[in-house]
Amino acid sequence: MVRELVQNPLMLNAKSVRATEEDVDVARDLIDTLQAHLDRFSGMAAVMIGERKRIIAIAKGSMVIAALNPKILSKSGEYETEEECPLLGKATKVVRYKTIRLLWQDGNMKEHVALLDGFQAQLVQHLIDHCDGIVV
Ligand SMILES: [Zn+2]
Repeated sequence: MVRELVQNPLMLNAKSVRATEEDVDVARDLIDTLQAHLDRFSGMAAVMIGERKRIIAIAKGSMVIAALNPKILSKSGEYETEEECPLLGKATKVVRYKTIRLLWQDGNMKEHVALLDGFQAQLVQHLIDHCDGIVV
């Protein structure tokens, strides 16, 4: 189900809690909502649809996948850049890492680990910030 996007700073600045198997519907709604907004967004965090759960969704071409409880295991290649959250449209300086090793769970709570770099790595770092109540 496509959900309405949250723009209220009080909600966006809240920290999300760990997702469980009961949050699979949230993950599904997040995928639907991102799919409906692919013209503006490449990824979304659950807090953006009003759910304080550690779930992110990422577009890979026209496909969207959800990652529950994403966690950066290691990172390298620190750099400074400007980022602009499509929700706010205000460019802000941030420190990011070129390469990250990411651990997450899928909708069946199965764990995955992958090495991400470039745009995907930056996007995931931005979305994990959202899970921590940080809006860039
Ligand atoms: Zn954002």
